[in-house]
Amino acid sequence: MKVKIGLETHVQLATKTKLFCSCSIENLSEAEPNTRVCDICLGFPGSKPVLNKKAVDIGIKIALALNCKIHREFFFSRKSYFYPDMAKNFQISQYEIPLASNGYLIVNGKKIRIKRVHLEEDPARIIHVGKSITEAKYTLLDYNRSGIPLVEIVTEPDIESPKEAREYLKTLMLILEYLGVFDPKEHLMKSDANISLEGGERVEIKNITGFREVENALNFEILRHKNLLKRGIKPERETRMWDPVTKTTKSLRKKEEEEEYGYIFEPDLVKIVLTEEQINAIKQSLPEMPQEKFEKYLSMGLNKEIAFTISSDLQLAIFFESLLDEFSPNQIDSWILVLKKILNYNDVLLSETKLKKEHFSLLVKKALSGEISDRAFELILREVVFYPEKLEMLLKEYQKISGEKLKEIVLKVIENNKKAVEDYKSGEEKALNYLVGQVMKEIKGKGDAKEIRKIILELLNG
Ligand code: ZN
Ligand code: MN
Repeated sequence: MKVKIGLETHVQLATKTKLFCSCSIENLSEAEPNTRVCDICLGFPGSKPVLNKKAVDIGIKIALALNCKIHREFFFSRKSYFYPDMAKNFQISQYEIPLASNGYLIVNGKKIRIKRVHLEEDPARIIHVGKSITEAKYTLLDYNRSGIPLVEIVTEPDIESPKEAREYLKTLMLILEYLGVFDPKEHLMKSDANISLEGGERVEIKNITGFREVENALNFEILRHKNLLKRGIKPERETRMWDPVTKTTKSLRKKEEEEEYGYIFEPDLVKIVLTEEQINAIKQSLPEMPQEKFEKYLSMGLNKEIAFTISSDLQLAIFFESLLDEFSPNQIDSWILVLKKILNYNDVLLSETKLKKEHFSLLVKKALSGEISDRAFELILREVVFYPEKLEMLLKEYQKISGEKLKEIVLKVIENNKKAVEDYKSGEEKALNYLVGQVMKEIKGKGDAKEIRKIILELLNG
């Protein structure tokens, strides 16, 4: 059954101050509730919003990175609704002419069209105290969040599965990280998901935090729709909410159209006019994007999987590129993958480890020259990412045993395993593997199995 999904994603922007006032939003998580507020973000009568130009610049940056057309002239509108998170009973947003439109994002080689990108203010934070949202005893409001600049990114319904929705959001997040405008540890990314199945109406699921949850909510909704359609019931047009605790969606309200918000122009803000130079200057300042890095790595001779893995982790990509003054791309790509595996296993970013370029580069040199085995490289790196001071000691400990020294040990093993030697001579191939295993045990894995095998054969046949 064909599934159509469109996403509206709200991203908090990393500015110093709010969108329409000078209240600071730096280290906001450390602030006491309702201490970063003023007449404007509390919506006092008579207070007048003043647009934060920095937020506009960041919005343009994001829109350009999403291949959008920037509107040289745009304005803000009041989106009217009554809810305690919005003290003035309207949200300043953009409707008629947004900041930008008609872009696209490439997700796993597929083009997902971006319908529009606009700026708006974040409402206050609502904290329901009680068992669940529907059974709250009372509700707390924190207006520190009210007025944080948000950029809203709306796709066309080009997404065809919950998994693809998650991948789209991951790609979007990566682009924002590359642009340096979003810190996944500090800021929130929330999405509204529109979904329809063939033969059913469109349903909107509001306010889902994180991309895992978007995938879960959509999977639930598809199942619900399929069950309804199977029973001959057509899913209704409605707005639902996702409950991450029960992992289900609940109906909030029937039918809702954008027009019902009664948008009117915001008379306290003048029309914004951008110059061509301003847009070009921002275009020039855009860094290399993930897709560009991916293609660059392919042209360096990296395979698709490795190129994708490295370009999907900005810190790792920077680290990889910093090593290219000492190594060729193909000399280090597989070692970078080993590093990525270790980072994933520990669930950390490179910046959360103590690994420096010089540690990694030394390890790679030892592996390339054959002084340590591939296995030893990984074992040492596992320790070194957190305890680089152990590097010298570990290199000594794991130094590969080969040549004459290895031969001596093999001789000793042969003498101590007469039975296996006889078995081998009488045609039992397995006995050879046993002998290799005994040598490995003796040298604690610090050797090359192929070399050991070769020495054994030489000694037994010679
Ligand atoms: Zn304020
Ligand atoms: Mn919105």
